[in-house]
Amino acid sequence: MTTNVVWFRNDLRVADHAPLLEACKRANDLGEKVLPVFIFDPDWFGKTAFGFSRVSRSRGRFFLESINDLSRQLEQLGGKLHLLMGETASVLADLSEKAGVRSVLCHHEVASEEMKIEEAARSRLTDLAVDLVAFPATTMVDWMNPPFEVSETPEVFTKFRRLVEKRGVFSPPLPPPKSVDGSFEAISGEVTISEIQAMDWFPDCAVPSQDEKASLYRGGVVAGELRLQHYLWDTDALSRYKETRNGMLEVDDSSKLSAWLAFGCLSAKQVMSEVDRYEIERVKNDSTYWLKFELLWRDFFLFMSAKHGSKLYRSGGLQGREIPWNQDDRHFDAWKFGRTGYPLVDANMRELFQSGYMSNRGRQNVASFLTKNLGLDWRLGAEWFESRLIDHDPSLNYGNWNYAAGIGNDAREYRWFNINKQAVAYDPDGKYVRHWLPELRQVSTEWIHRPWAMNQSLQESSRCVIGVDYPEPIVDLFHSAEVNKKRYAVASGNRQHHAQQELLKF
Ligand SMILES: Cc1cc2nc3c(=O)[nH]c(=O)nc-3n(C[C@H](O)[C@H](O)[C@H](O)COP(=O)(O)OP(=O)(O)OC[C@H]3O[C@@H](n4cnc5c(N)ncnc54)[C@H](O)[C@@H]3O)c2cc1C
Repeated sequence: MTTNVVWFRNDLRVADHAPLLEACKRANDLGEKVLPVFIFDPDWFGKTAFGFSRVSRSRGRFFLESINDLSRQLEQLGGKLHLLMGETASVLADLSEKAGVRSVLCHHEVASEEMKIEEAARSRLTDLAVDLVAFPATTMVDWMNPPFEVSETPEVFTKFRRLVEKRGVFSPPLPPPKSVDGSFEAISGEVTISEIQAMDWFPDCAVPSQDEKASLYRGGVVAGELRLQHYLWDTDALSRYKETRNGMLEVDDSSKLSAWLAFGCLSAKQVMSEVDRYEIERVKNDSTYWLKFELLWRDFFLFMSAKHGSKLYRSGGLQGREIPWNQDDRHFDAWKFGRTGYPLVDANMRELFQSGYMSNRGRQNVASFLTKNLGLDWRLGAEWFESRLIDHDPSLNYGNWNYAAGIGNDAREYRWFNINKQAVAYDPDGKYVRHWLPELRQVSTEWIHRPWAMNQSLQESSRCVIGVDYPEPIVDLFHSAEVNKKRYAVASGNRQHHAQQELLKF
């Protein structure tokens, strides 16, 4: 009997899943079999270019929980998720030969490494006369009917958003299939979740955190839907999103949906349609619009990734702007582990390390500090984020880092965040900083964001002696920003010069 493989990737759900629906339709209409698989490709668990583990323990846990949950969801529909391990193209080719496969159905992914995997699989399968059918990636904007060709995607978000919003209605998410034909026996080479766990692919263990945000992150559709239910319907936190979204401390300051979106336990269309329903049944205001606005940023970076491919990851980024970065391991370690002497940066970096999450406000500040104050290569920061974030998504992470480092889609020439000002604006009473930096807990609000300015006796009475309990600032904020601004200006000059030279060649 003919078989259609459904190859799950970063789309670990059964609803709004075009490949699964199509396979189930073929099963109903043509009597073909459905074979859902997930492939653990060891490449995925290796090291980044700078040598960090690509998947932290907390992300690995979220990931395996999501796989477990998907497996349960498929069982409830009468199906079975088959777990395989190895180089993806070979596993799919091997499976196709053994199981009489007609086609492999999957979602297309836009990040360049994922595209390479898909291309390698396509080429192996074509040799076996098996179709690889890749359905469009799951964004809110419909790839089959976009307001512009991918190659013509506007480089500036505002233009992108206007064109998308002008087009209007997004198509609704697809329903789950009614049933998944589950008559498949075991396949040779199948692995279990316990076997994967035993491989210890996620050795880069985070310090176990008691933080509420860390315990929030349970992988899988059920947990994602519970979070959506909580944020919209149980607490109405969505109706205040625009006012609270820059907060760094409270769980409900923002939706915290990013990890479920990154693994595809929830699709952006599902979130969008739930917000639409909320607007009809509860309230429609600036906040409800703003969540959709942020989800459009997600689409924007996915389109950018599809448009520019591997350019997103090169040192000069999308602009090809080569900045002569500093080499300073001591400064990078201080940033990584939250010991820069700037409480806002340190609190955010420790939160990331301990919980696997950081707010958008925090991410913007620490990225600015790494590139515009320490003058360090943005890819160090992006790779560290990749290694630590539970919600890591290559297009979003590298797209945002390009933007923050001033080599991507930011229309402004040199955007620099004044950490001192940001700290007072977004953590006025120092609650956030005290939460993550125990050594500052007794420092009064007046000094909490500039502990270095306390005199000796204040330092002693607050149990925060600078240089002993908490580091001195590792760079001067304003001087370092000025130095780096000049360096960016020189790099821009060089780039223009280079572009002129290139033009003269023709
Ligand atoms: C340097 C840097 C790196 C980042 N890396 C990632 C990453 O790897 N994965 C990731 O999901 N987000 C990333 N972001 C975007 C953003 O910080 C997170 O999506 C957000 O903080 C997640 O929290 P939330 O779900 O509560 O967001 P909310 O404020 O509730 O927003 C809702 C959703 O909108 C999307 N969104 C919000 N802000 C952005 C943005 N700036 N760019 C793209 N989409 C956005 C996300 O899907 C998010 O879940 C990064 C931002 C920066 C500045």
